[in-house]
Amino acid sequence: MKVPMLDLHAQYEPLMPAIRRNLDMVFAEHHYIMGRQVKELEEKMQAFLQIKYAIGCASGTDALLLALKALEIDDGDEVITTPFTFFATASTIWRNNARPVFVDIDPRTYNIDPAKIEAAITDRTKAIMPVHIFGQPADMDAIMQIAKQHGLAVIEDNAQGIGSTWNGKMSCSFGEIGTLSFFPSKNLGAMGDAGMCLTNDEELAGKLRQLRVHGENPKYFHKWVGLNSRLDTMQAAILLVKLEALAQWSEGRRRNAAFYNEHLHGIPRITTPCIAPQACSIYNQYTLRCEDRDGLMTHLQDKGIGCAVYYPLPLHLQECFAGLGYKVGDLPVSETASQSVLSIPIYPELTQEQIEYVVAAIKEFYQKT
Ligand SMILES: *Cc1c(COP(=O)(O)O)cnc(C)c1O
Repeated sequence: MKVPMLDLHAQYEPLMPAIRRNLDMVFAEHHYIMGRQVKELEEKMQAFLQIKYAIGCASGTDALLLALKALEIDDGDEVITTPFTFFATASTIWRNNARPVFVDIDPRTYNIDPAKIEAAITDRTKAIMPVHIFGQPADMDAIMQIAKQHGLAVIEDNAQGIGSTWNGKMSCSFGEIGTLSFFPSKNLGAMGDAGMCLTNDEELAGKLRQLRVHGENPKYFHKWVGLNSRLDTMQAAILLVKLEALAQWSEGRRRNAAFYNEHLHGIPRITTPCIAPQACSIYNQYTLRCEDRDGLMTHLQDKGIGCAVYYPLPLHLQECFAGLGYKVGDLPVSETASQSVLSIPIYPELTQEQIEYVVAAIKEFYQKT
């Protein structure tokens, strides 16, 4: 049996007729940049996430860049974030000439540890950028309280958490701006790159809309140096079809997670994911903490089971950030996590046979060694 890490064939098969119909409409209209489908998607997303303004853009990375620019974070400013995330979280801060300040994570949830944030605040700190890692929101009560107390903006990097909630409130709706990625492997993936900013602030929404078209308004007049970062009309047409299925897919992921939790529980050398009682995760990943992680990874791969390490090197130790002056041992919880995490297939199209096969393979490894 083969169990890939993600099965886009299975995901797309039932959707292709509707996607082809929507694309045919784009081909009939030839409105490739900022076509009506972009606005339609933004409106549907506003309703789905219960946030006032959605601004589509070219990728999740650009959404973060636009958010930082809209909040005028630049030269010499500091932004507090987590080192246990995808590269773009910190690279966008760096590319805006600001400084990423890394704060260690909670060992149970892998999200930024709010108890460690205040010690990292200086008079240059402008914002906190939590990441809702693997689909579980960070502790937004604690983070918003710290931000309020210190007058800091909050940008939620929600590339992995679309539709997740904290105390019943949608991720992306806590901070000044929330960002989404529609990279093909995200829970709501396009057939290429795409992203989005979300905000409840009308002024920030206007600024973001302007910044994604070179900062121009009116045409050929520029108040800011913006980006060329639009959400492609074709990608919007595809995402409109897929958004309809998202809630049901998230349910499927949670169902699979419950199955794993039940059947992997009690294997002595692995820990199943810990979801905070306030959180509802959408399981972008199902991530185990395991002894002999690399041994388990090889064993699963030999059995035809896809698995992956997110992330093998925390961002404070990346070569490109050497200039920030971090060294091994500075953020030990993240460093330990990098050595021991393994994500296994969780996508909603997994069959019962496949998920049972994954469980059996994990059990077999720990019985054998
Ligand atoms: C995927 C991802 C991004 C970047 O999104 P792209 O659409 O690939 O640019 C940013 N942050 C996190 C946490 C991500 O997982």
